[in-house]
Amino acid sequence: MTRINKRGFFHIKRKVTGLLVLTGLIFVFLPPLHAQENGPYRVRTVVIDPGHGGRDPGALGKRSKEKDIVLAISLKLGKYIEQNMDDVNVIYTRDRDVFVELDKRAEIANENKADLFISIHANGLSNSRVYGAETFVMGLHTNERNLEIAMKENAVITLEEDYASRYQGYDPHSAESFIIFNLMQNKHLEQSLHFASCVQNQFSERARRHDRGVKQAGFIVLWMTTMPSVLIEVGFVSNPQEEAYLMSEQGQDYLASAIFRAFRDYKQSIESREEMAFSQAEALSRRGVRYKVQVTASGRRISLDHEMFSGFSHVEEFTGNGLYKYAVGEETDYQRIVKFSKSVRERFPDAFVIAVRDTTVIPLSEALRQTE
Ligand SMILES: [Zn+2]
Repeated sequence: MTRINKRGFFHIKRKVTGLLVLTGLIFVFLPPLHAQENGPYRVRTVVIDPGHGGRDPGALGKRSKEKDIVLAISLKLGKYIEQNMDDVNVIYTRDRDVFVELDKRAEIANENKADLFISIHANGLSNSRVYGAETFVMGLHTNERNLEIAMKENAVITLEEDYASRYQGYDPHSAESFIIFNLMQNKHLEQSLHFASCVQNQFSERARRHDRGVKQAGFIVLWMTTMPSVLIEVGFVSNPQEEAYLMSEQGQDYLASAIFRAFRDYKQSIESREEMAFSQAEALSRRGVRYKVQVTASGRRISLDHEMFSGFSHVEEFTGNGLYKYAVGEETDYQRIVKFSKSVRERFPDAFVIAVRDTTVIPLSEALRQTE
């Protein structure tokens, strides 16, 4: 008994260690959210991921395959975004009926530095009475049903070549493997949840779908992406009425337009929040910049009370390049300090204007750019 438990334990531990190494690699390359140059963060690239494809049909309805339904909805969604938002770049993980590995899908999103990853799926159950739409974010399942959905969607990797080594021994059929999702950090959880709830709102309001809510479960494809990401289950092909809706042009239009509206709401709210944070930060840094006139530098320290500084106010010492530097006067307005520097040069002919933020001398050009 003990031996079996022990072996079982090592079995899990080995898997988890492998997955942790993989997680580590993924998190090292996390792009910071606020990294866009010279301006507030904007949602610029969205990756749309139609589930399954090619030799993997996904869930099977009586008359339909998941892979066809989700491709049609994905292409409509991408078209809406492209037609209505000039500033957003749409990338698909597939735009036709081909098989794409799960890690490849995540890689496409990561390499393109996507701001949002939207994976679109449809559900299937043996119980044909179940219907409705739900949106998942990465996390640990809170009930068995959510675990089952994640296991079913993850099982696609068994159709991939060499999946055991590609996913570090992760076994999609083993609930044990999901222990890893308990250990991971989800840096983008808040934003993923935000977008997920926008989607569910639009599904119930715009598309009048039965709202099954926002849920969490361990989907490999979400786990491997390094940006806010969701997996949408648009409905059940196993329910005859819902299957008819999912197969219809109108149903697909409504669902795609609901996801588009959710994306628009999400983008607007993220960007206005980021814009506010950016201008506050800018105002703060502007306030932090002051101008002074450097009068002398010395290898030896000079007392601020030294008679050479007499008659000047705001005498300050800075250090840099192994020297003690002394500056006088203080203005936040550049023109005023230039005027002041002329009078200083009567006593110190080599005096010049410097810019200081907090207690650090910064390049004058940088300060001028910020106080313009
Ligand atoms: Zn699926």
